Amino acid sequence: MDEFFSHYANPVCRKCDSRALNEHDKRALHVNMYAESIEMQKEATEESRAKGEGPVLIDFGDDGDNPVFVGGIKYWRRYRFGGWVTMRDFDDCKDIGEFYDKYPMIWPLTRLPALKRPAELRQPR
Ligand SMILES: [Zn+2]
Repeated sequence: MDEFFSHYANPVCRKCDSRALNEHDKRALHVNMYAESIEMQKEATEESRAKGEGPVLIDFGDDGDNPVFVGGIKYWRRYRFGGWVTMRDFDDCKDIGEFYDKYPMIWPLTRLPALKRPAELRQPR
């Protein structure tokens, strides 16, 4: 387990992660990889080319399928910087918010201001 992953709760290895499925038994994807996103990106690129302009990269944000399943076991994915970390849910959480609440050290930075948690809790263990 490298240093990056040690900051996350119960991370799955990359090999198992590559088998992750979404709730519809399709490969679990980052929003960038959704067929609609790929289509939108393609159209934007074509439009830009037609106008003789440079390449455009649509920012879909960091989101994607959740929860995901590896061999029928439930995991939550934290999508970040275009990638993700897949973390095992031992508590059958109803949503990713509940999962984050069980593992305070992995709260996404975007949730911190609203939660007003003390600074020391934001540090990974
Ligand atoms: Zn594995």
